Amino acid sequence: MDVDFHVNSNQADAVGVLLEQNSVEYKVLFDNLQDGINAQLDGQKSKRHSYTKYNTWEKIAEWTREMAKKYPNLVKRLDIGGTTEGRPMYVLQIGKSGTSRRAVFMDCGIHAREWISPAFCQWFLIEGEEEITELLNSLTFYILPVLNIDGYVWSWTEDRMWRKNRAPTVDEECIGTDLNRNFNISWCEIGSSDEPCSEIFCGSAAESEKETQNVANFIRSHMDSIKAYITIHSYSQMLLYPFSYTYDPAPNSKELDEIAKEAVHKLHSLYGTSYVYGPSAFTIYPTSGSSDDWAYAKGINYSFTFELRDKGKKGFLLPESKIKPTCQETTLAVASIAQYVISQYS
Ligand SMILES: [Zn+2]
Repeated sequence: MDVDFHVNSNQADAVGVLLEQNSVEYKVLFDNLQDGINAQLDGQKSKRHSYTKYNTWEKIAEWTREMAKKYPNLVKRLDIGGTTEGRPMYVLQIGKSGTSRRAVFMDCGIHAREWISPAFCQWFLIEGEEEITELLNSLTFYILPVLNIDGYVWSWTEDRMWRKNRAPTVDEECIGTDLNRNFNISWCEIGSSDEPCSEIFCGSAAESEKETQNVANFIRSHMDSIKAYITIHSYSQMLLYPFSYTYDPAPNSKELDEIAKEAVHKLHSLYGTSYVYGPSAFTIYPTSGSSDDWAYAKGINYSFTFELRDKGKKGFLLPESKIKPTCQETTLAVASIAQYVISQYS
């Protein structure tokens, strides 16, 4: 069965999950899909890295090297392990020497097609300078600009709408695990699938995937310093906090709600972009094995998921002209969360 529909105010993922759960084959059609893809692939032709364009993985990797070289006192590039296809996963550690050991971990690009997400992680580091310089007096940021690198490369070269990683499964026909269903928290239960062909395949076991293992190991080995976990997705314009796997409220849900309210208020102040916020299971849809719930369960009390612009008009194909405003407003929200974290640990 082929269902054509246009996604308006709701999230394509949400619709996809519902359809998958009901075993309906679906295809999301965007307005001028091919035009959007062509416009974005044109960016591939330009040689230089740009904060206002979508960059290939090669450009982003080279950029991480340059950042560490250009700002040796501020930026350190850490290799946290290889992907399935052997690409090194780089985390940029941004902090001043002598700063206390409090840290915020932020990842982008866990889902390959959400290109605005890696664009934000790159932007935040340099173009967000004004907002983050002061924060760096009391905080270290660990930034993973692309978590699902193999999938990201695939979304540039073969399939713009690719979501999962590129690891083989028991089914030869179907490749890839949804890395945001592969963390060790209520693994493969609600909002997740054990069917390798599914877009929300949870993997063969919790943390079966190299990308998941590398992130989980890094966070586990920095638990003494990491006080907040932030993961960046698109799209829907939402700021979410735990839980995803249950409708039960998180122990500090009132506090998380206040932090989200303030962050969304700051974000709105720049261009009037509206976000909704709340616990994931209620606000978007329930999922299990997601990184935000896992980080929270590990003891990171401030765990947030952003779903960036837009609300479905262009969806994953957000035009490059929107990169700058999206990243500017999101920087204000992330800075607001970081500011709160500082206030709690000073
Ligand atoms: Zn996503």
